[in-house]
Amino acid sequence: MHTNTRILAHNFVYHEPKTLDEALTLLDKHKPGIKILAGGTDVLPKMKRNHFECERLMYIKNIKELSFIDNSNGLKIGAATLLSDLEKSPEIKQNYHALHEAIKAIGAIAIRNMATIGGNICNAAPPADTVPALLIFDAQLKLVKLGGERTVPLNQFITGAEQTIIEHGELLHSIEMPELTGGLLSTFVKLGRVSVDTARINMAVAADIDGSSNTIKTARVALGAVGTKAYRCPDSEALLAGKKVDESVILAFADSLTSVCDYAIPGRYSLPYKREAVRKLAEDAFKQLLS
Ligand SMILES: Cc1cc2nc3c(=O)[nH]c(=O)nc-3n(C[C@H](O)[C@H](O)[C@H](O)COP(=O)(O)OP(=O)(O)OC[C@H]3O[C@@H](n4cnc5c(N)ncnc54)[C@H](O)[C@@H]3O)c2cc1C
Repeated sequence: MHTNTRILAHNFVYHEPKTLDEALTLLDKHKPGIKILAGGTDVLPKMKRNHFECERLMYIKNIKELSFIDNSNGLKIGAATLLSDLEKSPEIKQNYHALHEAIKAIGAIAIRNMATIGGNICNAAPPADTVPALLIFDAQLKLVKLGGERTVPLNQFITGAEQTIIEHGELLHSIEMPELTGGLLSTFVKLGRVSVDTARINMAVAADIDGSSNTIKTARVALGAVGTKAYRCPDSEALLAGKKVDESVILAFADSLTSVCDYAIPGRYSLPYKREAVRKLAEDAFKQLLS
């Protein structure tokens, strides 16, 4: 069917609250027909294809309380913070390097100037690039509604492709990551069809390596775009812990991640391709981490 992508095909009431209180009041009053618009880089293409319907749309990028980077104790990021602002943060680049790399890998600069981190999370697309990086940093999400709030781990927030536990009337306020202890190095790698593309596979890896003995103290791995959501890979993490870094450990680590594909997409036509791609990506990620 031909779709005219220049027009939005249905009518809705548009709101532009300036404060969080105003936004939460609107969300409460007009639920369930009111939906949230941040950068619109996921919402608008969906609306043009009639895949996103609402009676009311509430734009949240004018709300100052939702746009901030606070690295005084761990890392806290407001949900409506632009990806391009996060990309420029020297603290994120230095300490939460995988997140920096994941953000740099999203679309082109024009997209990162519009898009928000909260939109990337709440859209809950299986290849969302920030999600594996946030998972290895044990991100927690603060959800707020009129008269209440709750904090949930990211790994429980996304339940499947474009599925989250967010309730009508709730809004993602911020993302919180604990302070990093030790010398955790991290990186993010992505395989796409072309350079500006959503991921076919993405992966975030972190390790704390004892320099004197060249031994991995702890490791963290998260894999995205394989299955309906990104997830941590505890078996692969355990395999690395306590091992000396050498070629055989890297190969064993890469091999262990291929079995995650067997579990996540059993019988899928892309399984043989994804197994081999994951293996190579895991090797690249680990070598990148060490370099
Ligand atoms: C050309 C192009 C290239 C892209 N490339 C990539 C890529 O390489 N990697 C990648 O991961 N993504 C990519 N994307 C997808 C998109 O840019 C990201 O997912 C982006 O981060 C979405 O943020 P946004 O602010 O635009 O969200 P929006 O489109 O405004 O919202 C997305 C969803 O989240 C909800 N939402 C937003 N904020 C909140 C909140 N605070 N609380 C509750 N719900 C909220 C909205 O209601 C909507 O359901 C691309 C998109 C385009 C158009």
